Amino acid sequence: MTDQHNIETALARNRAFAAAGGHQDAVVFPNLRLFVITCLDPRVDPAHFLGLELSDAMVVRNVGGRVTPEVIGDVAYIGQITENVLPDGPLFEVAVIHHTQCGAAALADDTFRRRYAERIGADESTLRDKAILDPAATVTSDVERLRSAPAISPRIGVSGHVYDVVSGLVETVIPADPRTASPQPTQGGQTR
Ligand SMILES: [Zn+2]
Repeated sequence: MTDQHNIETALARNRAFAAAGGHQDAVVFPNLRLFVITCLDPRVDPAHFLGLELSDAMVVRNVGGRVTPEVIGDVAYIGQITENVLPDGPLFEVAVIHHTQCGAAALADDTFRRRYAERIGADESTLRDKAILDPAATVTSDVERLRSAPAISPRIGVSGHVYDVVSGLVETVIPADPRTASPQPTQGGQTR
């Protein structure tokens, strides 16, 4: 153990990043038109398991990668900004990604959940719904919650996936709504 704070390690990496010009060419409109919602678990970093480079996607991470009212507000906010840039057609895609071995399973434990509810001043019954025991089931309900939210434009596609921390693979549970499919890329001037 050293008495150096761990943030110093990250700040040294930042200086190397800046010196190498890693921040150059970054753009505010994401290259993949993708908005990822996933867990804050350090094994579940989409920059790694989805190969996201800087400027590729917007990412919101919380315990479990749940679609909370705050997350719906974030997607709605980006939707409103994007509508100003793109008057017609698909706006962007949202991918909700839950994962195996999620620590949000602890919320299914009565003692743990009661203590946590007291700690944050929350209603215990709402926390029970946030437990992740079956990620395919919870991601399905979260996709439905996002798709049915009045604040979310139907021009925003939403899909649901499960990331397996053992195999490293993502499996799609709910495909994106076909009505909001992104335009096919063009090759040689012809739409494929
Ligand atoms: Zn998790």
